[in-house]
Amino acid sequence: MSQIVVQKFGGTSVQDAPAMRRVMEIVKQHGIKRGIRPLVVLSACSGVTNSLIRIGELAMLKKFDEAHKTITELDQRHYNIVHDLKLSLRVEQEAALELRFIWRELRTLVRGIELLGELTPKMKDKLLSAGERASTTIFAHALREHLSKKSIAVHYCDARDFFITDSAFTLARPQIGEITKRMKAHAKKMIGGAVCITQGFIGATKRGETTTIGRGGSDFSAAIMGIAIAAKEIQIWTDVAGIYTCDPRLVSEAYAQPVVSFVDASTMAFFGAKVLHPETIGPAVEAGIPVRVLSSKQPTLKGTTILTSSEGTSGITGIAIKRNIALLKICSTELVPVATSLAMIFDALSEHKIIPLATSLSFDNAIFALDSAEELSKLQSALRDYTNLTSKQGRALITLVGHGLEYSAGVAARLFSAVKKNNCEMVSFGGSGNAISLVIPDDEIESAVRRIHKEFFTS
Ligand code: ADP
Ligand code: ASP
Ligand code: MG
Repeated sequence: MSQIVVQKFGGTSVQDAPAMRRVMEIVKQHGIKRGIRPLVVLSACSGVTNSLIRIGELAMLKKFDEAHKTITELDQRHYNIVHDLKLSLRVEQEAALELRFIWRELRTLVRGIELLGELTPKMKDKLLSAGERASTTIFAHALREHLSKKSIAVHYCDARDFFITDSAFTLARPQIGEITKRMKAHAKKMIGGAVCITQGFIGATKRGETTTIGRGGSDFSAAIMGIAIAAKEIQIWTDVAGIYTCDPRLVSEAYAQPVVSFVDASTMAFFGAKVLHPETIGPAVEAGIPVRVLSSKQPTLKGTTILTSSEGTSGITGIAIKRNIALLKICSTELVPVATSLAMIFDALSEHKIIPLATSLSFDNAIFALDSAEELSKLQSALRDYTNLTSKQGRALITLVGHGLEYSAGVAARLFSAVKKNNCEMVSFGGSGNAISLVIPDDEIESAVRRIHKEFFTS
């Protein structure tokens, strides 16, 4: 009788044949143990979801030849992975045949867009699901062959048969009760000694229509699946060895924190640390399931363990960054302002489901930091008739995160002194006791973040 661990691998971890081979080793070394079997959850190969989005855009622009050319490129890239994995001829042919169905379906979808002249969210989800279906198809064949000598069964499980969501296409919400019910059969197989492979990010409505749960959502899928099968642990395998003090692509001195509280990990994710989808940790921790973030490139490193409390974690966890955000400044048109304007502003935020990244209110003005130009334009149209609006784009949000912030005298002074040369356009502190956010022009971000990192982590 086996216990189950969830092992989720992101796009770079399955980007080509050598990466897939590393994942097979990780599944063998860190997933399959005596009394333990893994549920392997995969993303699409890196860059594929972006290409699929592009295919939809090209079709909408009536650039059908280019759309079909992009499908051919995807076909070729996946076929190369199959070929480079050096599988037996029979297995290679089976995998290639199954992939061909996926590309054929994509071409039909492009023809559908051509005929209808529209790309509905429902069609978009079907289009986007191809990436995860292709990566898991290849991986399941390769792992089955790899484990055949050990006589371990490998099952390919289409997430659309059990990962049931509502019908909010492109941003669907998983329905945990139904998922738990439907995963019982898979859990039984794993408890009996098999390995299961499935897709992150995609699911289906109860009526069987394909859905997706939002960009970067595979981490969230892994957490929900882990809860549904009462997993012993959720392992998030990515291209860095854990949650770092800052995005290592921006600051080369950044290092992995060995332990991070779930509150700080969620806060880092909300404020832009892409390493984890913001919704991943809360539900897992609530269900008492440990989450670890590990590197598929350096699997022997310890990575980061997410803890339920901040005990034993460092006071200041890291710096999260969001680039290309927008600022919307709202001035009341009334002489003695705000109360009515505020009611209107918050109604508009709620109607458009916008959660500002940071907010600052004064007696006559309100300023909001918004995630995207799309959110900005929605709010601008909702409020145009009642208030004076000014906006700025090309801004960046830097957030210092740590449970120590609330109680440590001098932290704010050190932060401001590190950005004394920058034009700081907004500050937000106090809403979350573990985060201080600043907004600066996007083109100043690299130098500012390096100085903040030096101040708090390397000096
Ligand atoms: P995956 O495809 O495995 O889901 P992502 O690209 O979504 O991986 O997330 C991993 C990336 O997150 C890293 O390559 C890194 O550049 C970025 N990142 C941003 N902030 C952090 C941070 N604080 N710690 C670690 N990685 C971070
Ligand atoms: N493939 C999806 C994306 O690129 C989901 C994920 O990778 O988590 O957004
Ligand atoms: Mg990710």
